[in-house]
Amino acid sequence: MRERVLSRIKPLPPILLPTSTTLGLATAEPVISPESHPPFANSAVDGFAVRAADTQHASKATPAHFIVIANRPAGHPDHTVVEAGQAIRIMTGAPIPEGANAVVMLEDTDAWDATAGRGRPGGSQVAVHRSAEAGQHVRPQGESIKAGDMLLEPGHVIRPAEIGLLFSVGINRIQVHAKPRVAVFSSGDEIVPADQEPGPSQIRDSNRPAILAGLQKHGFQTLDLGLIPDHEGQLTQAIQRGVSEADFLISSGGVSVGDRDLTHHVLSRLGTVDAFKVAMKPGKPQVFGEVENVPVYGLPGNPVSALVVFDVFVLPALRKRSGWGDVLRPLFMARLEKPIQRKGGRTEFVRVHLETKNGGWMARSTGLQGSGMLTSMTRANGYAILPAAVEHLEAGADVLCMLWED
Ligand code: AMP
Ligand code: MG
Repeated sequence: MRERVLSRIKPLPPILLPTSTTLGLATAEPVISPESHPPFANSAVDGFAVRAADTQHASKATPAHFIVIANRPAGHPDHTVVEAGQAIRIMTGAPIPEGANAVVMLEDTDAWDATAGRGRPGGSQVAVHRSAEAGQHVRPQGESIKAGDMLLEPGHVIRPAEIGLLFSVGINRIQVHAKPRVAVFSSGDEIVPADQEPGPSQIRDSNRPAILAGLQKHGFQTLDLGLIPDHEGQLTQAIQRGVSEADFLISSGGVSVGDRDLTHHVLSRLGTVDAFKVAMKPGKPQVFGEVENVPVYGLPGNPVSALVVFDVFVLPALRKRSGWGDVLRPLFMARLEKPIQRKGGRTEFVRVHLETKNGGWMARSTGLQGSGMLTSMTRANGYAILPAAVEHLEAGADVLCMLWED
């Protein structure tokens, strides 16, 4: 199902944006560096720039002596040239002076006036008591990036480090995919707004607020389409509005096979249905389709099922729509704290609390796993994913897990 859904989804078209506003967006084309970095050879430490050859055989007992001819803090260029037997006091990030090819760390030198305080030359002489290799503590020009290097491939998601990288080489605009605006509605004759007193046989709408929050958590803009009754005309209108005003539509409820479950029917009339029903627990009934090239995901009505399907199927689909290259969250193995006995047949997403214990991951079930019991989710921080065929798992068995936080 997931592969089928993902294969249908197209990223939103590229837009050119200021780099500073692209956090969480995916690149829409390869990003090539226009510059090298570092832009000039500079010192990696605070110390003295010297000719490495002048420090040969230097040791504590037989230090090499240098005349300090200048002081070079970062950001204050000068043109002093280092000759044999000379040193320039240099700070981290300052350009390596002409003539010098190594930097000796402060810690490997003497002849500082202790009373003048650290960082101030106490005289015009320095004694170096360790020999330096050519290139020592020098960050060569272009060491990390050469002009023309590919910095980011298409589909790469911008995080703080990417923002820093791009600005370090002067890229202040990039082509990215916009994040989809996502429309959400709940459906069901029995559902009332959560702040309304439910009458007999009515249920408060918890899905819409939970899904809207899930979208906000992942940085999507939302459009709340409210509550829609199990009525063909009103469902039709809601779907039409969703696909015209948003880039992705999510509904909940009305996707099973009851005669009031109309979402599948309306969807197939308005557009195409690409996938329907999944052998998973919870969350078997669900429907995915497209109307006017906008993806529409019908989630099950049961609150836990709705959130599990949102996590496992919809979030990757939203990331694909956002142009992300890598849309799936990483899975890893954890040990079960207690045995699990269950009926096989469907892949099960057991809500678990995951923690590191004795250097490995441990998974503990968060209790009653009914598809309407949200408490199993509020106590959990991830899923244990049990394969369809497995019916019994011993305590200590390894199971595949997913954390909800990236
Ligand atoms: P459905 O998928 O429409 O058959 O609904 C399955 C179950 O989920 C029923 O018990 C519904 O009352 C419940 N349900 C449906 N939508 C919501 C919602 N928005 N909030 C809370 N429960 C819901
Ligand atoms: Mg219903």
